[in-house]
Formats: sequence, C-alpha cells, structure tokens
Amino acid sequence: MTQFDDAIVRLLGSADSWITTAAHRERAEVVSPLDGRSVTTYPVCEPDDVTLAVTRARRAQTSWQKTSSQDRAAVLSRLSQLVWDWEKELLDLIQGENGKVRSHAFEEISDVAMTASHYAKRAPALLKPTRVPGPLPLLSRATVHHHPLGVVAVISPWNYPFTLALSDALAALAAGNAVVVKPDSNTVLSALAAKVLVEKAGLPADLFHVVAGRGSVLGPPLIKNCDYLMFTGSTATGRKLAVQAGEELVGFSAELGGKNALLVLHDAPIRRAVKGAVKAVISNAGQLCISTERIYVEDAVWDTFVPRFVRAMKKVRVGADYAWSTDMGPLISADQLTTVSEHVEDAKAKGATVLAGGEPLPHIAPHAYAPTVLTDVTDDMVVARSETFGPVVSLYRVADTEEAIARANDSEYGLNASIWTNPVRGQSVGARIEAGTVSINDAYVVAWASMHAPMGGMKASGIGRRHGDTGLLKYTEPQTVATSLVHPIQVPPLIGERGWSRIMRTFVKAWR
Ligand code: NAD
Repeated sequence: MTQFDDAIVRLLGSADSWITTAAHRERAEVVSPLDGRSVTTYPVCEPDDVTLAVTRARRAQTSWQKTSSQDRAAVLSRLSQLVWDWEKELLDLIQGENGKVRSHAFEEISDVAMTASHYAKRAPALLKPTRVPGPLPLLSRATVHHHPLGVVAVISPWNYPFTLALSDALAALAAGNAVVVKPDSNTVLSALAAKVLVEKAGLPADLFHVVAGRGSVLGPPLIKNCDYLMFTGSTATGRKLAVQAGEELVGFSAELGGKNALLVLHDAPIRRAVKGAVKAVISNAGQLCISTERIYVEDAVWDTFVPRFVRAMKKVRVGADYAWSTDMGPLISADQLTTVSEHVEDAKAKGATVLAGGEPLPHIAPHAYAPTVLTDVTDDMVVARSETFGPVVSLYRVADTEEAIARANDSEYGLNASIWTNPVRGQSVGARIEAGTVSINDAYVVAWASMHAPMGGMKASGIGRRHGDTGLLKYTEPQTVATSLVHPIQVPPLIGERGWSRIMRTFVKAWR
C-alpha cells in the first residue's frame, strides 16, 4: 500500500460516498501517474446526476443564503485550519493522483488555506449593504445589496486539482451560494477531498456537490441548470462554454490557457533570475497555467544568463516519489506526453537547437519528460505560439527592453509574465505587459499569492478574475434599492415640465 492508497482510505474511504449519483453507474479507473498503477475506481455520472445535484443544491441554498455572512465566513476559517490538520494526507493524495512533486502539491494546499482565510476575513465587509449617494443629496439615498446567485457550477482541470476545484467554490459559498463541482476525470479524488474538508469544516449538507464524468456529457445540463459558471481549463473549451453560458444567459468567468513570457532585462539580478526561471518552467512539470514557456533575454546579459540557466535546468532532479527533495515529477498522462513530445520534435525537425533535455524519461515514470531548453525557435514551429503545457521553454535573444516587451506581447494569450530587473523599473515595465498578472523578480508566486489583488487572463487567456474583491462579488447579484426621501423625483405641482427641466439642468451641471 503506497502513501496514495493510505491517503484515499484516510480522507475518503470510498469515492462513492462523495459523488452525487441518482442510480448505479459505470465505473472509471483512477490511475496514478507516479507508477501507472490503477488505484481505485469511481462512478461516472450521467446528466440525471447533474439534475439531482443541482436540485439538492438549490434546496439547500435557500437556507444557506439566510445565514449571516459571519457564520458562513466561520466555515471558511475552520477550513483553512483543517487543511493543515490534513496536510500529509492531502499532499499524498494530490501527488498520487496528479504526479506532481511534494513542493508543488504544497503550493496547492497553501493556496486553499490562504484563499479560505482571506475570504473569511473579507467576505462580511464586502457583503454588507453599502450606502451610496442618491441623485439628490439629502433628498434621496441608495443602498447596494449583494444577493447570492443561487447555484454556481465550477468546472475544473486536472493540473491543480485540489485548489481549482475548491478555491473558487469557497468564494461562491461565502457569498451565500451552493456549488456543484465537475472536476476533470483524471483527478476526481482531489475534488472529493475538497468536499470532505468543507463538510468537516461545518458546511451544511448538499451545498457542495461533486459530479464526475465527461465534460461534453455533464457540461450542457450543468450550464442549463446553474446560475453562474466558473470554468478553468483550455481556451478551446472556454470558447465552447462561453457560447452555452451566453445562450442560457448565466454569468460566466473563465481562467484559460497561456503562453507566458519571462523577461531577463539588462539590470536583472542574474543569480536570482536563473533560479526563478527554473521554477517558472518546471513547476508541476510545466503543467501550470502561469508557468513560463518563452524567455526573452536582453543581449547585454545573454552570455551571463543562458549558460547558467541551461546548467541549472540540467541539474533538475526529476522523480516519481513522495520526497520533498524531488524537483519535478512526470506529466499526468499519455496524451500530455504526446503533446509535449510532438512540440519538441516539430521544433527539432524545423531547426531548433536543444540546449537541455528534449526527450521522454520512461525509466522514471511512464509519462516523465526531461526539463527542456530550446533556442533558434522560429515562428513556423508549433512551440513558438501554442501552449505546450510541459517543462519546455524557448530562449530568445532581444536587443533591448523595448523589444522584450513587444515580443512578450506578441501572443494571442495574456495570462501571466515574470520580469527580472530593477524593482522600481519593473513596475513600469510590468504595466506595459499584456497579462493579467505580472511578477517582478519572482517566478509567479508573488502575484498568485496576492489574495487582495485580482488574478486572471487578458486576451484569449480568460474573462473575469478570481482572488481580490471581484473574485467574490462576481458570485453575487448586485441590487440597488434607492429611496426618494421627501418627494418623488418628478415634476412638482405648479412648476411644469419646462420649469422642471431648467431646475434639473442647473442641478446636473452643478454636479459636473
Ligand atoms: P480542458 O478544457 O480540456 O478541461 C478542463 C475541464 O473542462 C475538465 O473538467 C473537462 O472535463 C471539462 N470539459 C472539457 N470539455 C468540456 C465540454 N465540452 N463541456 C463542459 N466541460 C468540458 O483543459 P485541460 O486540458 O484539462 O486543462 C489544461 C488547460 O487549462 C491549459 O490550457 C491550462 O493553461 C488551463 N488552465 C488555466 C488556469 C488559469 O487559471 N488560467 C488554471 C489551470 C489550467
């Protein structure tokens, strides 16, 4: 029995207890990318199960929305502690199911704990009805209320399976909604662990459902029946779901793909930049939406940065185990290995130079791939513009900062960037990058973990944001209730339309 099996037993018992099903269903296997072993099975949901989950969630939500925002926040507060009480089991489960190394699994559970604490503190203030000025001072007033939407659907991917199933759901729950989560079929157990923990934290029954199965089967009934869709995944799927959400007129927020750039400018702290760039490329074996796939190095520091970076990439310890000392794990699946291999082989065939890696590592795990550095990459190569989602980075030499900014922005995506430079200059360069988050002198953590700040994608990388106030308020229906205190705002007796329009004109001009 491995640590993975043990974590399943301790956290979940049987997967069946935590998945909403209306009848007996066919089963799918959970295969661990660490050793290719089939570990357990779970029931595959049908559309009827989605209907059942949403119906039960909707019923439970009517009571939940009447609880105080402080009581709801208390659940999040307890959850942020529970994550640490169950840290070992969670790390083992996420690693076993996804294949990532321990430190990258740790980033996931930290994200959940931080998000839970942040919204536990912030939600009551955000949800309080707010008085705003009415149109006529002293004679009118307006109050903005934030009502929950009802049932929020969360469709999540496999790459950060615990936090992406749970963190957005936490904001939705804090705002008074119920949640139905549809995780990726490769990583259902991590979403079930999320359900176990929120219920241990005191979330009443039926407010958090998990339906497991194919997106194309469960997506349509979920979108049809929910009141908001939070999607994290590929841009291709995001576009399809946007159409469905549009047809149903339900709110939609999407965190999508990227082709993230890292800039090493002439005044970069080179030693730190090398370390940061390695982390930015290899985190979760590059299967991180905000990981780096393009590095632009200013001519002045190319000869200093590149050899050191290549050396550091060659030293990355790739493994398939539960040790804290392993730097990078295998890819999650055969499909992912095929995509990564195809991108690299296409680049090689068209003349790219491989400075490090460039091959699978089957002796480590069935889908392991070496940390790979390419140069001489040209625009006709797939790797130049398409998201690889693996530990593969292309290095480009640029004349100066202006060229680095222009080339970083020359992408259909706009998710994340990292810039290595003087910190003061970094702010102004960062603001010129077309990406939803930019980290200065850090791989990605400083922007990602800024819970007060919004996070998400520009261009084809997304719509809407998570984190920050907007990450919670998007799960509410803002309502304005305004009162005319003395007299309705309409023509008073004896004044007439013309006189009234003169008064109003004077008043509106005075407001300019
Ligand atoms: P994917 O779009 O294939 O799948 C994501 C989820 O959508 C899964 O649960 C899947 O079952 C579901 N799905 C697929 N087709 C569907 C359909 N027709 N209807 C409803 N649901 C459907 O993405 P993936 O390959 O699993 O994830 C990797 C992608 O996600 C990468 O592009 C990555 O950059 C992106 N991602 C983005 C963020 C972010 O925050 N911006 C975070 C993580 C991953």
